[in-house]
Amino acid sequence: MFLFILSLTTLLSAQQPADFADPQIAAALSNISAGQVQSDIEKLVSFQNRSTLSAQDAESIKAGRGVGAAREWIKSEFERYSRDCGGCLDVKTDSFTQPVSERVASPTVLTNVYAVLRGTNPEDAKRIVLVTGHYDSRNSTNENVTDPAPGANDDASGTAVSLECARVLSKLHFSGTIIFLTVAGEEQGLYGSKHFAEFAKTQGWDIEAVLNNDIVGGDQSPGQDPKVVRVFSESIPDNATEKQLRAIGALGGENDSPSRELARYVAQAARAYQLEVAPLLEFRRDRYLRGGDHISFNEQGFAAVRLTEFHENYTRQHQNVRTENGTEYGDLPKFVNFDYVANVARVNASTLASLASAPAPPKNVRLETKQLVNDSTLAWDAPADGRAVSYEVLWRATSAPDWEHSQAAGKEAKATIPVSKDNMIFAVQTVDESGHRSLPIVPVPAR
Ligand SMILES: [Zn+2]
Repeated sequence: MFLFILSLTTLLSAQQPADFADPQIAAALSNISAGQVQSDIEKLVSFQNRSTLSAQDAESIKAGRGVGAAREWIKSEFERYSRDCGGCLDVKTDSFTQPVSERVASPTVLTNVYAVLRGTNPEDAKRIVLVTGHYDSRNSTNENVTDPAPGANDDASGTAVSLECARVLSKLHFSGTIIFLTVAGEEQGLYGSKHFAEFAKTQGWDIEAVLNNDIVGGDQSPGQDPKVVRVFSESIPDNATEKQLRAIGALGGENDSPSRELARYVAQAARAYQLEVAPLLEFRRDRYLRGGDHISFNEQGFAAVRLTEFHENYTRQHQNVRTENGTEYGDLPKFVNFDYVANVARVNASTLASLASAPAPPKNVRLETKQLVNDSTLAWDAPADGRAVSYEVLWRATSAPDWEHSQAAGKEAKATIPVSKDNMIFAVQTVDESGHRSLPIVPVPAR
């Protein structure tokens, strides 16, 4: 009886995961503008057809037609934001020739455009958080590169999220690095993101988080919920080894991939900043029959999630612009809810800014399993950046979808929680002097 009372008291004294909001980040979020999002989307639509296979010669770029003109405009926008912050953004392109492949009939130059906001702390600057959307579009036919393919929702909306995050966050300083990316080649088979993710892997980049925004326009048809954005995350890491798969199966780790911890972090950031659009966690990699650029990053072992509106309207995606039997087809700006896109941009920016402000996550997190005891001892190593002033332990029931409890663990790189590890899933995060928290890291068993 005594033990029961003790553990109940301890559970009651444990907090729900804390809602920490940084006033500077909150101010930046309020600068995200639905008007700017609208003008970005309308500008992208003005290029008529942004198919990866469409025109990119100098004359078409000058005329404002095709994927080449879209690419040049995105680059010029990043450069404009950089001028406004004293050159704080490094604006780059990643160009390559996609060989003949599925839906690419002849070798085609693809160009990803991105801007790097380098971290101010030399050690932390190696850690990267990244937001992406695809700027290419398509209509009913992959090969039709001249008739309108407005792609306002799919995916000028996601491109506008990357642009708006860059515009607003480039006015702040972060200890970690943020990359604002827009890719091509999505509609043919994720070719742009695949190239970028492979490049990142070969460069040894430490990408901690990827937020892929694809179809975040909040299409205004019946069934839409403008208060919700779905966040898809993989269960089992795409690149898990045989040994890791066995451990996941034995200990119930299928709900705790790094991508899923990232999804929970996105939801936590939206709660902390009391945003108008709430993430709805979808515990699967993507929708049925569909894929997206986050998968390219998952394949290279990076934590990556997909954000998508709650209810999709399939008469508008990948359609020639036309009216048939009174139904309007085509992905036009008039169907997009610009306030919604701005709110989704806030969900992204709050996550990016929180992670880029936080210390590196704890290293080598382990759960002691050498003795059969009814409490749980965790230990870890401090990250190299020296910015963690304390640690926090999170836990939840094995059947719970999200973290239920947290406990401050002070400066010691060790904590004992008086609940049984057999019934709980734990994680540890670092906390800096202001209260920014890292991604939570789930322990591995240690004897
Ligand atoms: Zn798309």
